[in-house]
Amino acid sequence: MFSEFPVDFWLALMLAAAAGWAAGHVWRSLGRAKSTLRSERMSPQYFAGLNHLLNEQQDKALEVLRGLAEADTETVETQLALGHLYRRRGEVDRAIHVHEAIMQRPELPALLHQQAQFALGEDYLKAGLLDRAEVCFQKLIDQPAHRTASLRNLLNIYEQQGDWLQAINAYQQLSSFSSPEHPTALAHYYCELAEQAQREGMFSQAMENLNRAFEVQRNFPRGNLINADFYLAAGDARSAAAVCKRVMEIHPHLLPIVLPLFIRAIRALNMSLDNADAQLSLLSADSKQRAALAYAAIVSNVFDEPYLLQCLPDFLRQDATLGEMVQALVADANSLNSVQLHSVATSLAKVFRRTQRYRCISCGVNTGSHFWQCPGCHSWDTLAPVSRLELSPVSRRG
Ligand SMILES: [Zn+2]
Repeated sequence: MFSEFPVDFWLALMLAAAAGWAAGHVWRSLGRAKSTLRSERMSPQYFAGLNHLLNEQQDKALEVLRGLAEADTETVETQLALGHLYRRRGEVDRAIHVHEAIMQRPELPALLHQQAQFALGEDYLKAGLLDRAEVCFQKLIDQPAHRTASLRNLLNIYEQQGDWLQAINAYQQLSSFSSPEHPTALAHYYCELAEQAQREGMFSQAMENLNRAFEVQRNFPRGNLINADFYLAAGDARSAAAVCKRVMEIHPHLLPIVLPLFIRAIRALNMSLDNADAQLSLLSADSKQRAALAYAAIVSNVFDEPYLLQCLPDFLRQDATLGEMVQALVADANSLNSVQLHSVATSLAKVFRRTQRYRCISCGVNTGSHFWQCPGCHSWDTLAPVSRLELSPVSRRG
């Protein structure tokens, strides 16, 4: 009975719903399609099918689509829509089967072949078969209709594989056709290569990649941290400390990442945090800044610096629960002596190790460690310290 309806109309609806388009768009499609339908074709099934799609009732929509596909095995678009819906439902094996069958059809028009190739690539990507997905998308990067989406998928694949050279190549191609989603990604790729080269003891190659990162973005914070590490390795602790200091001042949210490196640098200079030479703008009377510094010291496990311990009461007071606990024990956090402060910091560090310490400002995923790229949404530079004690478990490995 569904075969009575124009297939293009149904496909527009099916694909729109499967692609998660807004209901408004579907209604606009409906409006256009309605004009091509004769009123006697408007059956109750038609409205029922439309309702399934608009209400995201995938099971019922699938039933309708299967009926259409069985009634009309020749129409490739119907099969493509069916494969798309299978993938959306997580039935990737079925989606692959449908799309592979389409590609094996003799005399398949080029545009439909490309559509099936792209859909198959997305199936493989969803199934985690990255090598196969890569082959599909590589074949499409010269096809204007699929170029941008294929390059974005290739970028995703290379990031997952840690193939930074290929990622750079895909990013540059993508930049020539469209704006990449993450503007700092290219600088991160060069930083990844710099760190890789450093691990392998290839210092000049590491420097070369680091310089490329800075060419992409001047004063790139991650690049500066790598640079500070290079300075330390080369015995130039003064330059390392200066670089760290600048990063902490400009990017205070990176404090927990930078602080351990900064402390390594000043210790190499036989200094402590409250030395005049090591003065930070952060070392102030401002209670919020002192609390942030104490928090960074706890989560990065560097609280044995006397100055950082002195900041701990500010952190304890800013958290209602911790403040109450301390007050119940000693009346005033300021009356804790250095041994007690060290003991509190040690206990807090143990608690923090089991809790979320960073949160993605883009997708909200929580992690126990810092990542430059969010493990949830794959955005770059979106993880920020939670900056207060939250006793909920980490949602991702960290
Ligand atoms: Zn995220």
